[in-house]
Order: sequence, then structure tokens, then C-alpha cells
Amino acid sequence: MKPPAFRYFAPSTLEEALELRAEHGSDSALLAGGQSLVPLLNLRLAFPAVVIDLGRLRELSGIRAADGGLAVGAMTRQREVERSDLVRERVPLVAEAVRKIGHPTIRNRGTIGGSLAHADPAAELPAAALALGAELVVRSTSGERAIPADGFFRSYLTTALEPDELLVEVRLPAVTGGSSFHEVARRHGDFALVGAAAIVDVSGAAIRDARLVLMGVGPRPVRAATAEAMLRNVQPSEAAFAKAAAEAVAGLEPTSDIHATADYRRRVAAVLARRALMEAAS
Ligand SMILES: Cc1cc2nc3c(=O)[nH]c(=O)nc-3n(C[C@H](O)[C@H](O)[C@H](O)COP(=O)(O)OP(=O)(O)OC[C@H]3O[C@@H](n4cnc5c(N)ncnc54)[C@H](O)[C@@H]3O)c2cc1C
Repeated sequence: MKPPAFRYFAPSTLEEALELRAEHGSDSALLAGGQSLVPLLNLRLAFPAVVIDLGRLRELSGIRAADGGLAVGAMTRQREVERSDLVRERVPLVAEAVRKIGHPTIRNRGTIGGSLAHADPAAELPAAALALGAELVVRSTSGERAIPADGFFRSYLTTALEPDELLVEVRLPAVTGGSSFHEVARRHGDFALVGAAAIVDVSGAAIRDARLVLMGVGPRPVRAATAEAMLRNVQPSEAAFAKAAAEAVAGLEPTSDIHATADYRRRVAAVLARRALMEAAS
């Protein structure tokens, strides 16, 4: 398999990369880990005139503590996120989610920013970012803006990024409470069919706050706001979590494809949501 012809640039500074992005806009694709872009090129599903390789931009890589949470550079490899003590301590949901991505060879190359910008609706990191209320920091030659995760993921492989923008950093806030991530895939390492990310903060005998995000059930990850509200100020119990999980999938219309029917996805999503909520609460 051969990709279509394109012009290749490997800028050595962020400024240079932003200039290239400003010049070529939607004719350009950014090469991060290449784990989604290269297959798309080779299968001739993407035809960018220009590929801008971000591999030399060391300033976009790294994990640092920030405001009780973390700031992670867009070019940080998924494997580094997986192995980071800081990530495990401060945002265990991300540590759990990233381990479920493909295989170690994929995670060695794939980046956190590439996964978020690619916005596959069955990907783990967008779901975790949405559950945490992460902010995505994007930059262009005209400045920087921070986009909340719930405004970033628009649809299938579509985000709020403008054609001249580049994702530079992900801000992951520390949240109180336990977290859990459950998913079902046909084989180990495959993209999940469906999954659920949950965060539950129990104070005394009642749930103070709950967050629930489902993935693989529509064109983007879905935050189950009504189910979350149902859980606030109630006692944690299997019955309460099952009721919230049923509510979370009630209005969903997942697609049917060769891997699973819509009904299967909806039913399994409810089971995973209940399990994730229970585990997060415990
Ligand atoms: C066999 C296999 C199995 C996989 N399984 C899973 C899985 O189970 N779960 C999962 O989530 N993923 C899976 N992936 C995909 C993997 O996680 C990719 O790493 C990820 O989707 C893209 O990250 P990347 O760094 O490789 O980005 P690339 O492939 O380089 O880029 C992907 C897209 O994002 C854009 N982009 C990249 N970086 C930026 C940036 N900084 N700013 C703006 N746009 C940017 C590019 O222009 C491109 O459109 C799998 C991949 C393979 C090959």
C-alpha cells in the first residue's frame, strides 16, 4: 500500500509548524504518532497536499503537575502517559484508559494529542477527557485558546480545531472520588465496541458527584448528564447505579455494523456503565 503523493515538512520549532499550518490550512495533515494518519494515507482515505511532521517539536512533549491536576504536551507518547507515576496518582482514569489502547507498539508511537485530535468515537482518551472535564489548549499564529472537552468533540473524526490550529497541550484537572473505565472489544487490542468511563465521589453515606461518559454509542463520546444528576445525593447502591445506567442509554441510537448491532451496543453500554459506576464508588 502506498500513500498518495504529498509535500513533507518537518519543522523544528512550534512557530515554524504554526506558520506552515497557517499557509496550508485544510490542505495539510499533522503527523504525530502516525498510528491513525498513516493507515488513512495508505488506504487512500486521506489526501492531504502537505504533511507537517510534529516529531521534532520537543516542546510539545512532557507531563507536568499543574493546578492540582496535570498538563500534558500533545506530542507525549501514550506509553509515557501509561507509565507515568504522576498520571497514576493524579488522574488514574487516564492511566486506566490509555492501557486499553491497541497494543504496546501502537502506544509507543501514538500520542495523547493525536488520539484527541483524531476523535474516534470509540477511542478511550476522548471519553476520559470528557469525563474529567479536560481542557484542550490549541494554538495558531493568531494566538491560543483553551477549549473545554465538551465543546471539542463535534462528530465522527471531527473536532472544534480550525484548519490553521494545532493542539499543543491537554489540561487534566484533578477530580475527587474514585474512577473506573470498562470496555468490550472483540479481541484484545481491538478498538472497543462500546465503553464507559465513570467518576464517583462519595461523601459520608451519599454520592456527592458522579460523572459518566459512554463511547462507541454515537458519533462522539456522550456525557450522560441526566444519569449523573439522578445519582447526586443518593446512597450508592447497585440498584441506583443500574437505574442511572439504564437512563444513560435510553435515548441513544448507536449504529449497527458488521461488528455489533445497535441493540447489542446499547445493552452492553448499560452493563458497562453500571459496572464502572459501582467500581468507581467502591
Ligand atoms: C492496530 C491499531 C489499533 C489501535 N487501537 C486503538 C484503540 O484501541 N483505541 C484508540 O483510542 N486508538 C487506537 N488506535 C489509534 C491510536 O491510538 C492512535 O495513536 C491515535 O488515534 C492517533 O494518534 P497519533 O499520535 O498516532 O496521531 P496521527 O495518526 O499522527 O494523527 C491522527 C490525526 O490527528 C491529527 N493530529 C495529530 N496531532 C495533532 C495535533 N497536535 N494537533 C492537531 N491535530 C493533530 C492529524 O492531523 C491526524 O488527522 C489504534 C491504531 C492501530 C494502528
